Parts: sequence; C-alpha cells; structure tokens
Amino acid sequence: MSQKEKVAPARACPICGKPAVERYRPFCSKRCADIDLNRWLKGGYAIPGAPDAEEDGEPATSRQDHEDD
Ligand SMILES: [Zn+2]
Repeated sequence: MSQKEKVAPARACPICGKPAVERYRPFCSKRCADIDLNRWLKGGYAIPGAPDAEEDGEPATSRQDHEDD
C-alpha cells in the first residue's frame, strides 16, 4: 500500500515565514496574525509613505445670497 500522505501543504506564515499553524492560519501564531491585521488596518486608513495631506478646504461662506434688485 502506497498511501500518499494527504497533508495540507504547509504554508509559510506571510509575516515571519514560519510554517503556519492551523489554529492561526495562515499565520503561525496570534502574534503574526495581529501584526498582519494591524498592517491591514493601517493600510486601509492611511497610505503609508504619503504625507499627511490635510485638505484645506475653502472656508464655508457664511454669506447669504443677498438679492439686491
Ligand atoms: Zn509568523
């Protein structure tokens, strides 16, 4: 009997490269999962490397339209 081992391919943790653990797939540990999550969240809110461009919108004109006839 030549039963091939049906082992799920050991995927490397995208964070540190260690073999992932099923519990924290695709990461090797909660730590790495957290790191990735943090990266993801940060990346979602602000583009890394981009300057904090504060949009200086034009001041809201509190002037009311004066209809002068
Ligand atoms: Zn890891």
